[in-house]
Amino acid sequence: MSAHPVFADMPVTVFETMSGLARRHGAINLGQGFPDAPGPEVLRRLAAEAVLNGSNQYPPSRGDPVLREAVVEHYSRLQGVDLSFDGVVVTSGATEAIAAALLAHVRPGDEVVIFEPAYDAYRPLIERAGGVVRAVTLQASAWRLTEAALEAAVGPRTRMVLVNNPLNPAARVFDAEEIAALARICIRHDLIVVRDEVWEHVVFDGRMHRTLLAAPGMADRVVKIGSAGKMFGLTGWKVGFACGSPDLIAPLAKAHQFLTFSTPPNLQTAVAAGLAWPVDWFDQMRSDLGRSRDRLAAALTAEGYVVTPGEGTYFLCLDLAASGLELDDTSFCRRIVEAFGVAAIPLSAFEHDPVTRTVARLCFAKSDAVLDEASERLGRARRALL
Ligand code: GLN
Repeated sequence: MSAHPVFADMPVTVFETMSGLARRHGAINLGQGFPDAPGPEVLRRLAAEAVLNGSNQYPPSRGDPVLREAVVEHYSRLQGVDLSFDGVVVTSGATEAIAAALLAHVRPGDEVVIFEPAYDAYRPLIERAGGVVRAVTLQASAWRLTEAALEAAVGPRTRMVLVNNPLNPAARVFDAEEIAALARICIRHDLIVVRDEVWEHVVFDGRMHRTLLAAPGMADRVVKIGSAGKMFGLTGWKVGFACGSPDLIAPLAKAHQFLTFSTPPNLQTAVAAGLAWPVDWFDQMRSDLGRSRDRLAAALTAEGYVVTPGEGTYFLCLDLAASGLELDDTSFCRRIVEAFGVAAIPLSAFEHDPVTRTVARLCFAKSDAVLDEASERLGRARRALL
């Protein structure tokens, strides 16, 4: 394959593949990350009302001004960042924001550092933008980012670091030391950081998300990406935001105008209202999800699995080898969806040359009954596969 493969050479995403298998086998879908609840009724009513009585024509390409103001207010109140109105662009989901950031800021031959396991869209998008991927492997199950490994990946052609924190699929939240190391290297080598922070509100055990935008010396080099889908459990809405200094955001807005141009106006109206909600609402959402994480982890531990604790995101990971299973993660995920009625995601799908071959990711943003049934089925699977 050439250094810049075309999309025709690339696989169907693991999410579409596993959700397709889940549908075909009538399995409980703990693969692709989405809640089984419909999302806040207030926001759904606002969106419906806006379709009936609001505008259904193109909103401004950079986003409904009301939503852009709401993003500025939200991040100022909850994360202490001082964004300007011109530092916010609304996109059709975070994935579009990532694509626009890469198209805007990567020139052919530029190197982009990512951390593997990495979200599966990163590598193909970097390569189609003409970039060259430099991957830093994070080792299971600590998934720690070290300054030495990052420094080794940076060279004279490095332009950007694309990093997800909290980290999907490993469910890590980088700590202050790791973030400080990342910031030091970006400043030392004059790099741009595209920070995919879509899981910013989904962090557990008293953790607080700190945006890299607020780190000393980083305000002019970070593009922060957020997602209403993850904030409000409305993943199908595909409303995202890219934020940062107007100088970094202006080129991104130009890429966005040729990708989707704009995002459905009614969804923007509803998301603006949600962003203004008090911090209590976000605390409650975290605590409900934390309870679901604990319920699934406890049930699977009782079934003999070794579970890696999730610090953030909708996910927890099963360490198959430590659970006494000898299959690789892809075979395990195939077997459990076909024969035991549970879909999961193999972590090896997030690495180019997989080193993490025995970890599977499960989504716990589901009702207690669904989690209990899935745990029982996974228990049966483990006993059969031992
Ligand atoms: N972010 C979701 C996940 O990690 C997948 C989104 C998608 O399928 N495009 O499961």
